[in-house]
Amino acid sequence: MRSISIFGATGSVGEQTFDLIQRAGGADAYRVVALTGGQNITRLADMARELRAEVAVCADASSLAELRDRLAGSGVETAAGPEAIAEAADRPADWVMSAIVGAAGLVPGFRALRHGATLALANKESLVTAGPLLLAEAAAHGATILPVDSEHSAIFQALTGEDIGAVERIILTASGGALRDWPLEALAKATVKEALAHPNWAMGQRITIDSASMFNKALEVIETREFFGVTPDQVEVIIHPESLIHSMVGFHDGAIMAHMGAPDMRHSIGYALNWPARDALPVARLDLAQVATLTFRAPEMARYPALRLAREVMARRGLAGAAFNAAKEIALDHFLAGGIGFMDMAGVVEDTLEALEPEMGRSNLPEALEDVVAMDHLARIRAGEIASQKARSR
Ligand code: NDP
Ligand code: MG
Repeated sequence: MRSISIFGATGSVGEQTFDLIQRAGGADAYRVVALTGGQNITRLADMARELRAEVAVCADASSLAELRDRLAGSGVETAAGPEAIAEAADRPADWVMSAIVGAAGLVPGFRALRHGATLALANKESLVTAGPLLLAEAAAHGATILPVDSEHSAIFQALTGEDIGAVERIILTASGGALRDWPLEALAKATVKEALAHPNWAMGQRITIDSASMFNKALEVIETREFFGVTPDQVEVIIHPESLIHSMVGFHDGAIMAHMGAPDMRHSIGYALNWPARDALPVARLDLAQVATLTFRAPEMARYPALRLAREVMARRGLAGAAFNAAKEIALDHFLAGGIGFMDMAGVVEDTLEALEPEMGRSNLPEALEDVVAMDHLARIRAGEIASQKARSR
């Protein structure tokens, strides 16, 4: 029986993973090792009972008593805290979903690779902050990383059977987010609610705001460069409002392979779960006659400064990805809390990168995971100061 673990089980990707596991037979079809969650203890406990998990782990020690109560008599072990989550990743499982949001997802992914797991990677922050280390860790332990981000799953699928040397360019599609048609001058006043009205995908709150600002696409550009080993100038972004083409690969002979489907994360999660097989998935089938038209347009750089910042991060490499991601998370916190405006987020990230220039280094690789974690902490502090300054001067 195949063994699996889900990190970030209670989130948007985690829930959809749970759905696929349940449809495939749940605890009768898989041996479920670990499920982890953050604040949503009720849901974590319900999932752990249903899947008869060996262990359920929550992020905060203060929630452990509640988790224990809810799982009393179930036979599911309980634990709490970041170290307990990392230890849950030490328990061997054949397939591990990495779907914790943010930098907190980094360590569990690394630890799962150490026992040669197949890591289904939704946590894009792992590649953005520590891409070279993560790939080296996988190679050292004969582990496999399968992308779950829909764009990267699309690219991965378009590359199956192809030689990466024959790739000319990779074209990431972007919906453009909730504010794509707003007048430029109105963006500064966009509210959280407005930025959350995503036209196509139903996702977690943070990634939905990142979609409106294209910080999500900026992370994905860096993710593409790291995962597929292409050069920064081989990675392009195009706005495709229908979100039916999930990304494309252009080859030296001029051919472009596009991956299409309904915008449903269960496709890329299911692809990673069933890989290398393709089993039936409960996703809607496209009726192309009804779709009729696919449209594309170039992203305006003034609307999406995050895309320009991604280029700078790729040029610097080293620890710049860690600084970029951390600053983006802090800027997002401040926007969500109402302290800074929508367009201020890019300002906070840019100023943080500039302030940390001396510490970021220009080496091609972060040397160790500890360096990445240290830069993450430093960038959070600096970005917090810069965001507070911006909030005061508003
Ligand atoms: P959600 O915010 O919906 O879920 C995040 C999960 O992580 C939840 O289980 C949450 O617990 C848990 N969590 C939050 N903070 C911590 C922490 N400090 N320590 C441990 N666990 C924590 O995020 P998504 O599912 O949307 O995204 C997960 C990852 O997948 C992200 O990296 C995102 O970029 C990526 N991704 C998501 C896509 C999507 O469609 N949603 C698409 C492509 C990539 P709880 O909810 O219990 O608090
Ligand atoms: Mg994506």
